[in-house]
Amino acid sequence: MNKSIIILLYSIILFSCGNMNKRGDADFDQFTKTFVNDLWMQYPNWATGMGYHKYDSILQIPNAAKDKSDLEFAKRYLDSLEGFDFEKLTPTHQTDYLLIKNNLTATSFYSNEFKSGEWDASSYNFGGTLFELTNYKEASTEQIIENINKFLSKTPEYYTTAKENLKNPTLEHTALAIDQLAGTISMLREGEIKQLFTKNNADTKILESSAVAIEGFVAHLSDLKMQMDSGKMKAKDFRIGKELHSKKFDFEIQSSFNAESMYENAKKRKQTLTAEMFDIATKLWPKYMPNIVIEKDSLLRIKAVIDAVAMQHCKREDFQKEIERQIPILTKFVSENNLVTMDPTKPLVVRKEPEWMAGVAGASISSPGPYDKNGNTYYNVGSLAKYTPEGAESYLREYNNFTLQILNIHEAIPGHYVQLVHSNKTPSLIQSIFQNGAFNEGWALYAERMMMEEGFDKNTSINPSAMPDEMWLMYYKFHLRGVCNTILDYSIHSLGMKKEEALQIMMNEAFQEKSEAEGKWKRATLTQVQLCSYFTGFYEIYNFRDKVKKKQGDKFQIKAFNDKLLSFGSPPVKYIEKMFGE
Ligand code: ZN
Ligand code: ZN
Repeated sequence: MNKSIIILLYSIILFSCGNMNKRGDADFDQFTKTFVNDLWMQYPNWATGMGYHKYDSILQIPNAAKDKSDLEFAKRYLDSLEGFDFEKLTPTHQTDYLLIKNNLTATSFYSNEFKSGEWDASSYNFGGTLFELTNYKEASTEQIIENINKFLSKTPEYYTTAKENLKNPTLEHTALAIDQLAGTISMLREGEIKQLFTKNNADTKILESSAVAIEGFVAHLSDLKMQMDSGKMKAKDFRIGKELHSKKFDFEIQSSFNAESMYENAKKRKQTLTAEMFDIATKLWPKYMPNIVIEKDSLLRIKAVIDAVAMQHCKREDFQKEIERQIPILTKFVSENNLVTMDPTKPLVVRKEPEWMAGVAGASISSPGPYDKNGNTYYNVGSLAKYTPEGAESYLREYNNFTLQILNIHEAIPGHYVQLVHSNKTPSLIQSIFQNGAFNEGWALYAERMMMEEGFDKNTSINPSAMPDEMWLMYYKFHLRGVCNTILDYSIHSLGMKKEEALQIMMNEAFQEKSEAEGKWKRATLTQVQLCSYFTGFYEIYNFRDKVKKKQGDKFQIKAFNDKLLSFGSPPVKYIEKMFGE
């Protein structure tokens, strides 16, 4: 026998022995329990953010030892995963397995290749975690203050390390960090944390010394920024480049498509949408501009009709009231048309955006985490109070009578809020920890489309006279924004697109207001990949539904499909396809 055959035989024997001893479903739940406990010990600040408060008093120093320990943690658990016989696990456990594996594999990508700690100054801000320390409902105030004291005792060391780590900063993240850290300093000197301490007669020395340490870091950043602004120091390009972008896309989006093919899909989708909008604009032109000769240029024609339709909007002081008015109407439509199961025991609370949130007008959903499943879900509505009259008018035209309905569908019913209520019912802790952003955003975009297809365009309960053409036009514009997010993110980070070209696409080809386009540009410079989640998630969910529809034929029921789709929590669509059983 030659040597290689012996080795081959030997490895077959080893392999089959290994297989016989491999663990199965019975052990998997215990394994994930241990894993999650260890995960929170390894990442205490992430735990706090998820509403798990056992390690609240720990502020971890982002040094080389921490990096090494994270990599060891990942290796240890990747090895334990190898001990399971994947093929024999139930589909839910298989999904948990793959989500854990993806997360652990990403550890070495982020610490060895991506290395954002070297260039992203804004990653050194614990303001959000600090705020979460005050949300520990089961703890006494004394306990919370003690946690904050211990946590903040590490502030000076934390910022000394941050300064050392930041070798190659980008201008954009440095400017962001300077802005955001001012908020954290104010939290310590007069905001929530200071108030908590003074109300309880606690010693505030630690708050001031922490504020001073953060100020020292901010001074360092301001100096770096000045050098970058004046050209004395070369700033790192915020663009991460094609290779890192495509890898980050795979880890974060977890799609069956890669970044490049989604970029191609998005470009095709944009063309289709423009053609649809052109037809509607042509039809609506005489209604809105009866005495004006129709515009020949197709993009200008669409733009002119959008601008005319957008004049129909609510009053500045009625914005939040109008949102509150629409929520029960949307709920009724969803129930009457049998679209998806709603849970009346988990109502949505519409509120003015809290002060510590971004402070710019907008809308978002805050949902309870996996450790606080009975908490409220909030619909945060940005205030228009700080807007100039012109700014408010531009904002209200953007969220005109038609678009505001689409926004409420996206954020609330049956969009994010409904999806997150369903997601919170999944028994898999792993799936609620590793929520897939592309599924969440994809569902919201899918919900918009589904509502339109199911007759919401002709609904008269919000707008007394149904105007389906206007509804579709504004729906397409809203959807086009999500599609362009993918095009921009990919073009900017992988193809080096410049600001002028990006604004050109957004304003002239996607019909966005200048302020909106500027805001999106800024977001694209500060984040990577996240903007791809909207269209990628939509594309996969919508195509999957088509597949199921074709297969089930007459038996297909939209509510049954939607409920089942939402029953798996929020994993990547490609795993849902496996678990769905179609
Ligand atoms: Zn107006
Ligand atoms: Zn969304």
